[in-house]
Amino acid sequence: MGVECGSDYNGGVGIRRPDDNVSAERHLPYELLALFEEMQNTKEDAVFPYRILCCLHTVGMRSFAQYDIADLFYHIWNLLIEQIPYPSLVKRLRELYVIRLKEYVTCHKCSHIQSRDLEVLTIPLLVRHSKYHRNLPLVSWYWCIYAGSEDHQSFCPKCEGNTAGQKVLRLSHLPRTLSIHLNRISQQKSSQLQKVNRPLSFPSTLDLSEVLDLEQFPEQEHNQSEYQYRLFAVVAHSGTASSGHYCAYIKSWKDQKWYCFNDSSVCKVSWDDVKCTYGNVNFHYGVMACLLVYIQGAGNKGPDIGK
Ligand SMILES: [Zn+2]
Repeated sequence: MGVECGSDYNGGVGIRRPDDNVSAERHLPYELLALFEEMQNTKEDAVFPYRILCCLHTVGMRSFAQYDIADLFYHIWNLLIEQIPYPSLVKRLRELYVIRLKEYVTCHKCSHIQSRDLEVLTIPLLVRHSKYHRNLPLVSWYWCIYAGSEDHQSFCPKCEGNTAGQKVLRLSHLPRTLSIHLNRISQQKSSQLQKVNRPLSFPSTLDLSEVLDLEQFPEQEHNQSEYQYRLFAVVAHSGTASSGHYCAYIKSWKDQKWYCFNDSSVCKVSWDDVKCTYGNVNFHYGVMACLLVYIQGAGNKGPDIGK
């Protein structure tokens, strides 16, 4: 491989081929870039991501094993952030993907409130069974989690012991990318894992000014477009809790159409096709959304990745 590593990422020149003295365990950013280049240049229908899999093997991830989509995202993210040699690029990626939250726990016994800052890549949403298989619209969930009603056991310094409390999560800033993990795996009494097929509908645009407490951001002046989010990608899973297959629906900024990426096959689909991933209790092995990626900003422009 050539020796083309720059001294730092300058915003215009991307990651290049690694120096020979970069160990094989530190190749993920280079191999990812090489894969994208190969995908653009190949005359074949598809390219095999063999070298990416080798990078993931170095951290114990196996081929042909089913991983939770959020776990996979965190593994790849952590590896990339650890291996990218340019601090300025790491900073830009963090600005683009990291969601900052504030967690508040109010002790039921003494009403003492503890808070801490959290940084996450995905906001988790546990999709629970519903006896009547009722549809769960995404915005109702949003109210639920941010109004907070989850009981949580934690140490209360005032009571000097573990007590039950109410946990509330709030966004502490408006993220550039709002990734929501729809966790449909639930543990049964028999301790077997089961996939929850209950429908969960999600909109193609989200207006957070309708659901957020606007006084929450007093120091920042946000214009209306910063509260607007557009659905950019849906990762969907078909199969059971223990085995299955992932595919992705991504909206093109060029033609504003949705495309389904399923292994080597890429085809144009409609918004109605994307909506088929809401879930359906009569279709146990069907394709169901497990990760939603919303991008900040109104209009039809592509994401602004900053300078
Ligand atoms: Zn207490």
